[in-house]
Amino acid sequence: MATNSGAQTPGLRPPLAMLAELTHRCPLQCPYCSNPLELARRSDELTTAEWVDVFEQAAALGVLQVHLSGGEPTARSDLKEIVAAARAAGLYSNLITAGVLLTRPRLEELVEVGLDHVQLSIQDSDPANAERIGNYAGGFERKMAVASWVRELELPLTVNAVVHRQNLDHLEEIIALARRLGAHRLEIANVQYYGWALENRAALMPTRAQVERATAAAEAAREQHRGAMAIDYVVPDYYARRPKRCMDGWGNQFFAVTPRGRVLPCHAAETITGMTFSSVRERSLRWIWHHDAAFNRFRGVDWMPEPCRSCEYRERDLGGCRCQAFALTGDAAATDPVCALSEHHGALVALAEADAGGGSAPFRYRRYEGAREKRAARPGH
Ligand code: SF4
Ligand code: SF4
Repeated sequence: MATNSGAQTPGLRPPLAMLAELTHRCPLQCPYCSNPLELARRSDELTTAEWVDVFEQAAALGVLQVHLSGGEPTARSDLKEIVAAARAAGLYSNLITAGVLLTRPRLEELVEVGLDHVQLSIQDSDPANAERIGNYAGGFERKMAVASWVRELELPLTVNAVVHRQNLDHLEEIIALARRLGAHRLEIANVQYYGWALENRAALMPTRAQVERATAAAEAAREQHRGAMAIDYVVPDYYARRPKRCMDGWGNQFFAVTPRGRVLPCHAAETITGMTFSSVRERSLRWIWHHDAAFNRFRGVDWMPEPCRSCEYRERDLGGCRCQAFALTGDAAATDPVCALSEHHGALVALAEADAGGGSAPFRYRRYEGAREKRAARPGH
């Protein structure tokens, strides 16, 4: 247990939400998975007691919501204890799940110990394509069942659909499916290109025409379902001219804890090589939030280079996404190349257009790299 408390930093607000990545294990293998290429193994994961301690520290720091994620959080056999700990700490808990490992009795148990909300991911409205994208046969029907249990148990349901070239033409059907499932909210998330998605960019990048049709469909659906189902949709970065205010600012109101216990200002921050992140196994959350060099590196606007430094939009977008800047330029402090004022913007647009013409490029599915070789290298094998 980390006990070093750390003093308050003047002017710094407390975090509101934390992402608890309970495990990287997952039965699906989505080619856009936001987990790092080097996945944590079960033996490295924080224990139940360590997560209980993290939730208590988070609540004391001001956190209100915990998103229980992964990997697939239901792969943890102690999920009931973890949900109960979130409730005991006074945190609102949201289970972010692919659904395929859940049973109705298990979901009932989670609700009994205090689960507040379920966010269910779907890969497509078309069952065969959904199962191809997740590389998991039979998953679609299980997800449909999970959605009905969530509604029967009177929990709010968010449906999350990650969209890309290979499902974007079904967006109207995806929206209709979410409505039939009784979702209160639909999050349409365009793929963010780092980690596994960067490996699969040629297979996933949508065309500009697809994005234009999808944007019109999402706007029309927002009006159609107003008051019944909220729809979140943001134009994908590669086809925008200004970056989004990523994570509402680096280290501003959110942090993620990885399965190994590292604390990140953004769930993809480990893709920035050369940055080191503290662990809850060594430091308290309060110390990390206030003093960790990685958290302070891109807070506010003082770190910005030109053209951001003297730009009128700098307080509005906070310079965009650091992970994307690193993925595309090799420099996490660079202006996000999504911005038309970035020297790299033209190259980015050309890259997007080239990838969008990638036709039927095969998926490189998410998996534990070298698992077979490592097993073979173990004594006794
Ligand atoms: S994106 Fe797909 S592979 Fe990654 S954790 Fe979610 S369901 Fe599993
Ligand atoms: S130059 Fe920087 S601050 Fe200005 S719009 Fe572009 S990313 Fe935002």
